[in-house]
Amino acid sequence: MVSPSDGLPFARVPRCDAADVGRAVVAARRAFEDGPWARTSALERGRILSRLGELIRNSSEELAEIEARDTGKPIRQARADIAAAGRYFEFYGGAADKMHGDTIPVQEGFLALTLREPHGVVGSIVPWNYPSQIMARVAGAALAMGNTLVMKPAEEACLSVIRIAELALAAGLPAGCWNVVTGYGEEAGAALANHPGIDFITFTGSPEVGALIQSAAAKNHVGCTLELGGKSPQILFADADLDAALPVIVNAVIQNGGQTCSAGSRLLVEVGILPKICELLRIRFRSLVAGAHDRDLDLGGLISARQAARVEAFVEEARAAGIPLIAEGSIAPDAPDGGFYSPARVFGPVGPGERLAREEVFGPVLSVIPFADEGEAVKLANATDYGLVAGVWTRDGQKAMRVARKVRAGQVFVNSYGAGGGVELPFGGFGKSGHGREKGLEALREFSALKTVIFNHG
Ligand code: NAD
Repeated sequence: MVSPSDGLPFARVPRCDAADVGRAVVAARRAFEDGPWARTSALERGRILSRLGELIRNSSEELAEIEARDTGKPIRQARADIAAAGRYFEFYGGAADKMHGDTIPVQEGFLALTLREPHGVVGSIVPWNYPSQIMARVAGAALAMGNTLVMKPAEEACLSVIRIAELALAAGLPAGCWNVVTGYGEEAGAALANHPGIDFITFTGSPEVGALIQSAAAKNHVGCTLELGGKSPQILFADADLDAALPVIVNAVIQNGGQTCSAGSRLLVEVGILPKICELLRIRFRSLVAGAHDRDLDLGGLISARQAARVEAFVEEARAAGIPLIAEGSIAPDAPDGGFYSPARVFGPVGPGERLAREEVFGPVLSVIPFADEGEAVKLANATDYGLVAGVWTRDGQKAMRVARKVRAGQVFVNSYGAGGGVELPFGGFGKSGHGREKGLEALREFSALKTVIFNHG
């Protein structure tokens, strides 16, 4: 593993291949069929998950340091991620015994009821941007419903996943229920997605790989959920509380260096306040500093040299196209050589047809796009292939509700922007952002299959 702060290797993990994945699937299958997990009461499953949440909380500083070093994110952001990971296990621990079916009125002499049953072995492919949070939202919900799990974290950042899966054993999760296979996407990831022994697969990452996962799921006739990123709009009307809005708007694009699927990377601004907003953004972006994870600045290093090069290519293309750069942040003078740093940048006005306005940069780059009225704001908000999150900033409640209803996004924030929201909130996208919902109670429905039982008692 290489630290994004200095580009130097600091840990080694196994490069698992298809045979390793096969062994993990067999272990998960055995734990599902023979082991106690699927037959353990929901109450007891919940207790074990809640205990894991507590163990994560008790080890939070150790885990945050692992996460910060592995991903490059500032330690304060890593602490928030670990706190959220613990909270996922507590949330799903508490929810495990509260998912139940229905009784359905049918003809005289019959009783029909539904049961929620586990899929069986769930495959999970986790990205590098929020390893602990994404791992926790999958494992918490899948295990709560009695599934067993084979998880492939990202080759760029997987250490917190390994450590938390170890803690799960200490919390009382039976061996074989949660298997972690480290390694490369095309090798271990592809082997997992294509393995005929898995019953469901969940993936978070790029749309390109998401399409491969969906094909593999179709080939094996199993269900999948895909969470594939976005190009999320924040719509700023002239009547908004600008002092409250600006810090949140900026944070929504620089958090985790912009490597957030739900980053608010397009700022749609009502044209009357455009000069004022550009001035405020200029001041704010100039003050943003990137540096090593333990310096706890506004931004850390990006995950890899490849990701930093990808972001720079977007920036160069925007410059070459003549899109004005409103402001640029800086890299701390003491940032180690060899780190993958990219300063925060804000461009605008950006034409709605530009790549910068339509494609996911996955870096700290904000595009400012002016609009004339509410109708145009909605049209521009919906003018990408994605549909993950949106923000609406206005003091007019009716306008906020009209826009929230018309924007194509899985989550809409009004006068806030929580980049994915809390653990309780269903999360997922429309269009190229993927399908299915994770987080909240909705995830428990995704990670279970509905069985209908019909009794003839007549
Ligand atoms: P990726 O989709 O290649 O990687 C995500 C996960 O998928 C990793 O665990 C990886 O090992 C695995 N993977 C890769 N190829 C695979 C394959 N053929 N079969 C099965 N699994 C495979 O993403 P990336 O290359 O790391 O990043 C590229 C872009 O993807 C980013 O710039 C960003 O736009 C997007 N991305 C989005 C998210 C998100 O949260 N939605 C996360 C990471 C990356």
